[in-house]
Amino acid sequence: MKTQEKSYIAHHVDQLKPSGIRRFFDLASKMENVISLGVGEPDFVTPWNVIEASYHSLERGFTSYTANAGLFELRQEISKFLKTEYELEYNPENQVLVTVGASQAIDVALRTILNPGDEVIVVEPSFVSYVPAVRLAGGVPITVSATEEHAFKIQANQMEAAITPRTKALMICSPNNPTGAVLSKQEMEEIAKLAKKHDFLVISDEIYADLTYDETFTSFASISEMAERTILISGFSKAFAMTGWRLGYATGPKQIIEAMTKIHQYTIMCAPTMAQHGALEALRNGRSSVLEMKTSYRQRRNFVVKALKDMGLSCHLPGGAFYVFPSVTSTGMSSEDFAEELLQEQQVAVVPGGVFGESGEGYVRCSYATSMKQLDTAMKRMRKFVEEKQIQ
Ligand code: PLP
Repeated sequence: MKTQEKSYIAHHVDQLKPSGIRRFFDLASKMENVISLGVGEPDFVTPWNVIEASYHSLERGFTSYTANAGLFELRQEISKFLKTEYELEYNPENQVLVTVGASQAIDVALRTILNPGDEVIVVEPSFVSYVPAVRLAGGVPITVSATEEHAFKIQANQMEAAITPRTKALMICSPNNPTGAVLSKQEMEEIAKLAKKHDFLVISDEIYADLTYDETFTSFASISEMAERTILISGFSKAFAMTGWRLGYATGPKQIIEAMTKIHQYTIMCAPTMAQHGALEALRNGRSSVLEMKTSYRQRRNFVVKALKDMGLSCHLPGGAFYVFPSVTSTGMSSEDFAEELLQEQQVAVVPGGVFGESGEGYVRCSYATSMKQLDTAMKRMRKFVEEKQIQ
């Protein structure tokens, strides 16, 4: 008789499910001629001046650790950027932490503020990491659904219903992954009122801030009295096409950033030095490249939304990021079946909305961070698929 194998895995890790996105990547990677609208990363290569600055830093011998919180010059530049763009005041000495992508900033922020059992409100559909990151930090994720009826934006009364005495923080993401929804200043003010009334922190993931197309982007910390209760998360991955460089940052109240820096110091030491030199150049001389990429994304967004509507899918116009989130309910299929059969029959990879939370069911996420030529072919294939499914 076979004895049961002993598991060395901690229970809270054992209970985590692998990301649903991975399954589709794995399926797609085994097939030929696949057009992937699944990945959440730019198709552009990092601007050349950024690459050059990074390898020149290596040539000049900058190969050692930097300060734990990151190169002081880079922290100064981040602080200057946030001041110029959003009128925010962060002291580079103790209110800016340079991290290994926004991903690490999210993880460290949660580990810094959560006591076991503290609740964090997560607005879904959301980036796949939030809920697991809260759990790994010992917190309890409380999910609230932002629905298409409200342009995928959470309503204040819905949020208030989710608040309890254990609510420690709220996580928001604007522009949003996967819906592309952008919160207006007024909507943020409603959230701010709740944060003050119930005394919780807001973790504001602003990684897509530079990719806001139709309206002015508002940084949550710029809302009156919110800087003192906001941890702003951002990074270089999306706007500067630097996903592989793994560079992000967090800014916030001194007490919180200093505490975050302690965890960062013991677990990471510092973000990669050469990537920090690249990021410095990106902030100093990379804005025109961001604008060029943004123009291209806007054009692609308009093309994809029109193509999806023309094939009969209802599709909300996303205000930012590089995703569209059409409804597939008219086909009568679940989002998982839609994505799987579309991949098998037409070799187009999209992500089923359910992986972003319950309220994502009935939708699929298509990234338009791929060339117009690929998008054109993908939309033709998808149209054929949808037409066939609707006839059946
Ligand atoms: N936040 C959101 C909303 C994202 O979509 C992503 C990546 O897809 C990240 C954070 C992670 O970014 P980074 O590459 O900086 O870790």
